[in-house]
Amino acid sequence: MKIAIIGAGLTGLVAGYRLSQKGHKVTIFEKSADIGGLMGGFKIGKTSLEKAYHHIFSTDSYIIDLAKELGVYDKLTWHEEKTALYFDKEMYAFMGAMDLLKFKPLDFVSKVRLGLVKIWLQMDNNWQKYENVLAYEWMEKWCGQRAYQVIWKPLLKGKFHDKYKEVSMAWLWARIHTRGNSAKLGYFEGGFRIIADELASRIKDKRGTIKVNSEVDFKKIEKDFDKILYTGASKGVEYLGAICVVFSSKQSLSKYYWHNINDVKSPFLAFIQHTNLINKKSYGGRHVYYLGTYIPNEGGLMAKTDLEIKKLFFDYLKTVFPKFDKKQIEQDWVFKFKNAQHIVSKKYKVESYKVKKNVYQANFAMIYPEDRGTNFAVREGNKVAEMIISKK
Ligand SMILES: Cc1cc2nc3c(=O)[nH]c(=O)nc-3n(C[C@H](O)[C@H](O)[C@H](O)COP(=O)(O)OP(=O)(O)OC[C@H]3O[C@@H](n4cnc5c(N)ncnc54)[C@H](O)[C@@H]3O)c2cc1C
Repeated sequence: MKIAIIGAGLTGLVAGYRLSQKGHKVTIFEKSADIGGLMGGFKIGKTSLEKAYHHIFSTDSYIIDLAKELGVYDKLTWHEEKTALYFDKEMYAFMGAMDLLKFKPLDFVSKVRLGLVKIWLQMDNNWQKYENVLAYEWMEKWCGQRAYQVIWKPLLKGKFHDKYKEVSMAWLWARIHTRGNSAKLGYFEGGFRIIADELASRIKDKRGTIKVNSEVDFKKIEKDFDKILYTGASKGVEYLGAICVVFSSKQSLSKYYWHNINDVKSPFLAFIQHTNLINKKSYGGRHVYYLGTYIPNEGGLMAKTDLEIKKLFFDYLKTVFPKFDKKQIEQDWVFKFKNAQHIVSKKYKVESYKVKKNVYQANFAMIYPEDRGTNFAVREGNKVAEMIISKK
C-alpha cells in the first residue's frame, strides 16, 4: 500500500518504521524543518540536546525494547534520580522516605499521610475508580490541607496552569503508579535524536520518504494514498503549550538534577540541571540547564518576546539560587511549543483511532490514563501500524 503519515514525531516515525518493515511504501509529511516533534533537538556544540528536557524511566519497556531492536541500547545510560523540591526559599532533597521525614515545611502527620497516599496509589491497580474524581479534591482530602498546599497544588498548577482543578485523578494515579516503581532515569548518549535518526534511516532504506517543511491536510492528499495516518493534535481536545528556556554556563548551581519549584508565583515549574544527569564533557565542559513550564497556547507568556521571557525566568532563578550569575551564561535559547500537553479532565474521552475509511489518527492525547511520553508514543505507533494493515 501507499501510506501517508502526517507528522514526524516519535509516533509517526515508529508507525512509519513498522509499516515500511511490512513492505508498504511510506511517505511522512512533517510541517516543521526537522523530525522528532516534541522530542526534537538542537545542536549544542557538537552534541544534540532536546529542546525540552527528556529522560525515560526504567519501567518504560516500549522505548527500551525499541532501542534494543534499533541497535542503540548501548547508548542508553541509567542514572540515579537526584530530585529536590524548592519551597518557601529553601531547597530540600526529595528522593525517598528519609528525605520526606526531614522535610521541614510539613508536620509529622502530613508527612505520614503523604507517604501512605503514595504507597496506596502505587499498590492500587484499579485506576477506573479515579476517572470521575478530581485530582485536587482527592489529594486535598487524603493528604490533608497542608500537604496539598505545599506539594500537590504547586505541581498540578505548574503542569496544568489555570486548568488544574479540572484534572482527573486517573491521570495523577497513573503518574504516581507507573513512575513510583522506576529505580533510575535513562538518557541516550548523543540525545534522543539517535532514536529519531535511526527510525528515519530505516524508513528510507525501505524506499520510504520523509518530507520536512510540508504541512498537509489529510483531505487534500486522500486521493494519492491508500491509507493515511494523522499524528498531530486532535481538534476535539484542549491543550496547553510549553516554554523551555535552555542555557549553558560554567557555573554549577545545584547538586540535584530535577528541582520541583513549589511556588505558585514562580514563572517556571521545574529547574533542571541536565549536566547532573549527563556528564558536562558531552557539552564542551559547560553545565546545561532547563527552566520549563506549561502555559496556554495563546497570549500571556506565549506572546512575550524571548528577551522578556528570559528576564522573567532568570530574575526568579536568582531568588532560588542567589549565586546564579547571568554574566556567566554562555548561550541561551527559548523554545515555545504549542499543543504540548492535553488537559486530562474528568470522564476524559479518548478519541477513536479510525477517523474514516482509510484515515487513522494516533497522538499523545489518546494515551490514557498514563502521562504522555516517548515510551507511550512508541506503543501507540506500534499499535496504530497494526490497525492500518489489519484486514478487520
Ligand atoms: C516540556 C516537555 C517535556 C517532556 N519531557 C518528557 C520526558 O522527560 N520523557 C518522555 O518520555 N517524554 C517527555 N515529553 C513528551 C514527549 O516528547 C512526547 O510525548 C512525544 O514526543 C510525542 O510524540 P508524538 O509523535 O505523539 O507527538 P509530537 O512530538 O507532537 O509529533 C507530532 C508531529 O506532527 C507534526 N504535525 C502536526 N500537524 C501537522 C500537519 N498538518 N502536517 C505536517 N506535520 C504536522 C508536528 O510538527 C510534530 O512534529 C515531554 C514533552 C514536553 C513538551
